[in-house]
Amino acid sequence: MLTNKVLNIGEGTISQISEMLSKQKISGKLLYVSDPVVDGLFGALVRPQLEKAGQVREVFVTENTIDYAMSLAERVIATDIDCIIGMGGGKVLDVCKYAAYISKKPFLSIPTTMANDGIASPIAVLKRRDGKPKSLGCAVPTMLLLDTQLIMNSPKELIKAGIGDTMSNYMALLDWKLAYSCGKEDINGYAYLMSQTSLDALMKTQYDSICPEFIEVLANSLILSGIAMDFAGSSRPVSGSEHLFSHALDMYSEKPNLHGLQVALGTVAALMLIGEDYRPVVNYLKKFEVDVNPVRLGIDEKTFVSCMQKSVTVRNDRYTYLHECELSDERLKTIYKRLLEEL
Ligand SMILES: [Zn+2]
Repeated sequence: MLTNKVLNIGEGTISQISEMLSKQKISGKLLYVSDPVVDGLFGALVRPQLEKAGQVREVFVTENTIDYAMSLAERVIATDIDCIIGMGGGKVLDVCKYAAYISKKPFLSIPTTMANDGIASPIAVLKRRDGKPKSLGCAVPTMLLLDTQLIMNSPKELIKAGIGDTMSNYMALLDWKLAYSCGKEDINGYAYLMSQTSLDALMKTQYDSICPEFIEVLANSLILSGIAMDFAGSSRPVSGSEHLFSHALDMYSEKPNLHGLQVALGTVAALMLIGEDYRPVVNYLKKFEVDVNPVRLGIDEKTFVSCMQKSVTVRNDRYTYLHECELSDERLKTIYKRLLEEL
């Protein structure tokens, strides 16, 4: 479980790595995992701090497959690594998260992007041998260090995807309530509240553009969503209809988009389908210029209709409003048209 002691969010925290490791009494053999681009940008800042704490081994992640993460775990076990330090985007961090879980070693996560709530979740998304993504249960990072200035300089599109993933809690919570009221699933009150708080913190923020202060709010929201998943023991608090739709796009569309943008589109579409007020979500997305217009995301009418219909088959342990909706071609085509007008 992430606590105050192992969670450091703020400007300039990238210089506090050795401090965090020494507070956690971590020394010995450290495996620094990154990729060439991220290492080129920040490696010179990170390496001396790690060398202060222990003997550093290095690896650049070449692929985010289950096989690769397992082989990294094998290396950690076989060479008696004491701690994994992962720095990068979701691909690097998910490989590290899973390798740390398999090898049962501590993991310090240093995100350089903030495109989804995976930064503090107990789930790693890795590729199967056929190239399709698979969500694997694991553990939240042991330590997390997030530098808001560093994220501020990351591509804006990724930050916008992070906004989209948090906004999807809106639909996920409606779906969870429905599943509970129908007796299909249990509800965990605390996890529900955490997911709601994560959403509220973002929606009620005083900032109306992406600035370092807003990044801090978004970081806290994404981390709280991750903790909600950890507390509930599943992604349920932050994943409903809109995530099923996004999973269907990942499986069946020709060119999947960023997860956070897909789930934000799914949120608006699902709200339209069930006749709920979607304006607060649309207005918020527009305020931060999070563009989820399906045409601009490269999702044509046919793909939209078929992926909406396939959503209900993606996982059978999740009950949502989509399971109660009429999902005929005709109705979904109307929704698609409305999405083009509104987004
Ligand atoms: Zn998500």
